[in-house]
Amino acid sequence: MTYFLRIGYSAWTRWMIVAVLTVLMGAAPAPARTFNGNYPIRVGATVGMVADIVREVAGDKADVTNIIGSGVDPHVYSPTRGDAAVLLRSDIIFYSGILLEGQMTDILAKISRKRPVHAVTELLSEDYLLRDRQTGHHDPHVWMDVQGWSKAVAVVSSKLVEFDPASADEYRKNAEAYQSRLERLDAYARSAIHSIPENQRVLLTAHDAFSYMGRAYGIEVKGIQGISTESEAGLKDINRLVDLLVNRRIPAVFVETSVSDKNVKALIEGAAARDHRVSIGGSLFSDAMGPPGTYEGTYEGMIDHNITVIAKALGGKVPARGMQDKLSTD
Ligand code: ZN
Repeated sequence: MTYFLRIGYSAWTRWMIVAVLTVLMGAAPAPARTFNGNYPIRVGATVGMVADIVREVAGDKADVTNIIGSGVDPHVYSPTRGDAAVLLRSDIIFYSGILLEGQMTDILAKISRKRPVHAVTELLSEDYLLRDRQTGHHDPHVWMDVQGWSKAVAVVSSKLVEFDPASADEYRKNAEAYQSRLERLDAYARSAIHSIPENQRVLLTAHDAFSYMGRAYGIEVKGIQGISTESEAGLKDINRLVDLLVNRRIPAVFVETSVSDKNVKALIEGAAARDHRVSIGGSLFSDAMGPPGTYEGTYEGMIDHNITVIAKALGGKVPARGMQDKLSTD
C-alpha cells in the first residue's frame, strides 16, 4: 500500500526523469528489436543477481551494466539521470520484477516501448510465488531459492536467443553449464540447513527477504520488517520476536548488508533484558550481492555466504569457507 501513498521528492524526481526520457525518445530513431550483430551487446540490468545471470549466459558477447549496485536497497531505489542514460544506451534490458524495483516501474515501462525489456521472474507460476500476509503483494525475493532462480536463467537464455539467434548455441550451452553449477549449490544449501539442530532452525533477519529460502531448505523465517523495507516495524512486532528468541533459546539473529541494523539491535537488547544472550550471527546478502570482483559479489558466492553463515551461527556443520572454500573469512 505504501507504494502508492508515497509522494514527495522522489516521486517528483521520477516524474522528471520519465518526462525527460519521453522527450529524448521522441527525438531518437527507434532502435531495432533484434540485434544488429555488433558485439558486444549492451545489456542494462537492475540488481546484481540479474546482471550475474546475463554475464554467465552471454559470456563475452555482452557488456553488462549493473544499475543497482552492491549494498544498495532496490525496494526504495529511485533511478537517477545517469541510470536513465544507461537504459537508453542499452540494446536489451533485464530486471528482476515482482515489484522488487518498485520505483523503476515507470521508467522500465516507458523504455520497453522502444527496446526489449524483460523480467527474469516471468516464468514463475502463481503456485510457486509466495505472498506477503499483510499486504497481499507477491514476495519478490525469488533468488533465495536456487531452483526458483534457475528458472530466471532459462528466461535470460531464451530472450538472448530470440534477440541474437546467431549466437543461440553459445547462450544455450552457457545457460546449461550455469544451471548445473546451481544444482550443486542447491544441494549444498539443503544439506547445510539440514545440519542445524531442528529446534534452532529459525532465521531471524531485518526484513522478510528469506521466505523462499525457508520454504526450499526447511528453515522457519521471521523478518522484523515486511517484504519491502518501505514499511516500518512496530514495537509489538519486536516484542513478539523477543518472545520467540527467548522461548526457543535461539542463539543468533542476522543483519543484512542493504538494510539498517537498528531493529536487529533492539531484538538483542530485548532478549538480554530477559536473560537470554543472542549474538549477531553475521551479515547476510539479502537484496544486493557483495563487492564486484569478489566471490561474494557473484550470485553463487552470495548464496554460499548466506547459507554457510546461517548454518554456522545456528549450530550446523559446514566447511569454514563454504561450499567451494572461497568465502572470505572476515
Ligand atoms: Zn528485500
